[in-house]
Amino acid sequence: MSQKSKVIIIGGGYGGLRTAAALQNQADVTIIDRNTYFHHKAAALRGLVAKGWEDRIYVDFADIGLNASFRQGEVTQVDPDARNVTLADGDVMGFDDLVIATGSTTVLPTETFGASGADARRKITEIMPDYAKAKRVIVVGDGPVGVEMAGEYRDLSPDIDITLVSSAAAPMTTVGNPKFSARVADLLKRQNIKRIGGKIVSEVGDTHVILSDGTRVDGDIVVQAVGITPNTDWIRSFAPDWLDARGQVRVDPDLSVVGQDRIFALGDCSDISEPKMLKMADVQGKYLGAAILARQAGDTPDPYERFTKKLTILPFGAKDGVALLPLGQEGKVVWRPLGRFLVVKRKGTHLLSNMFPSSYAASK
Ligand SMILES: Cc1cc2nc3c(=O)[nH]c(=O)nc-3n(C[C@H](O)[C@H](O)[C@H](O)COP(=O)(O)OP(=O)(O)OC[C@H]3O[C@@H](n4cnc5c(N)ncnc54)[C@H](O)[C@@H]3O)c2cc1C
Repeated sequence: MSQKSKVIIIGGGYGGLRTAAALQNQADVTIIDRNTYFHHKAAALRGLVAKGWEDRIYVDFADIGLNASFRQGEVTQVDPDARNVTLADGDVMGFDDLVIATGSTTVLPTETFGASGADARRKITEIMPDYAKAKRVIVVGDGPVGVEMAGEYRDLSPDIDITLVSSAAAPMTTVGNPKFSARVADLLKRQNIKRIGGKIVSEVGDTHVILSDGTRVDGDIVVQAVGITPNTDWIRSFAPDWLDARGQVRVDPDLSVVGQDRIFALGDCSDISEPKMLKMADVQGKYLGAAILARQAGDTPDPYERFTKKLTILPFGAKDGVALLPLGQEGKVVWRPLGRFLVVKRKGTHLLSNMFPSSYAASK
């Protein structure tokens, strides 16, 4: 009987685990992650202000039911010729194929809870009351994370004073559909969210921000919902040429790292020109799992087909939201009541915790 090939996946987020799920019955898969748990980021903002979400946000890898080994640690070195990785504790692990899926980090507090799942679940419940009791909330950034944060606060109480501050002229401009931005602006007005647009934030404190024109906005709490940093610093010391100017891993159309044939990257840490969203990491993971198996069978997989349409399901708390469906190149903003219904049903109530991480489990 032929031996299963060894695949190491560095990073057990949405992209890494979907790749593992696609490979699990046909390859010997090991996931290396600095934490011992999967972080379901899509539900994290609700967990910051509402009770009872911690078990759905931080799920121990051991409880996911994947047919894969898990190793906690950080990789410090990849040797493409010897086909092995070295971990910070000195362990060396060999691979046939390697997947880099170390994702990205924001400055949100939900990402600062350390390596243990039990600690992460405890820590979010400890800080939650401080977030939930705020009566004046400042959210910096009005991309999806900022708007969703405002929605979670509005669900807590109609009386909370919520201000969104953004350098953009309109909310959700990164989606690139002005009608969608206008619909989100309507929703914010209807939900009594103040929006200060077109102003760069020059200073952020724990309870205030100062804008580029000198205006000071005070609150009880400030949530920064801006920007992501790819988790790729660990690569810089041994393969700086794998990274682009933004620190993203450069990949070819088949998701192999430039110049490498059996090392791949996907998701938020890669330079794949798609929105940095879990949906994309998930689709890339499915593709990559199948592509690795095809290569092992001696086939040449087709290149990864990028998603070029516009799709956004934007919840605003558990009861409201706006949907942009991928119809035509620009996408179609769904009629308000139907859009709200769709968003609430597809995402708002459960925040995808009905699918992640349970959909990675090996079928029984
Ligand atoms: C608050 C929030 C809400 C979001 N909500 C949505 C949403 O509703 N819908 C949507 O489509 N997208 C959403 N996103 C974006 C989405 O979460 C990301 O696009 C997605 O997480 C990318 O998946 P990934 O697998 O590339 O990386 P990640 O999910 O970031 O996973 C990376 C993994 O690698 C591990 N890791 C990192 N560095 C190392 C290292 N050096 N060594 C070992 N392990 C390492 C991490 O611990 C982590 O487990 C949200 C993001 C945030 C921050």
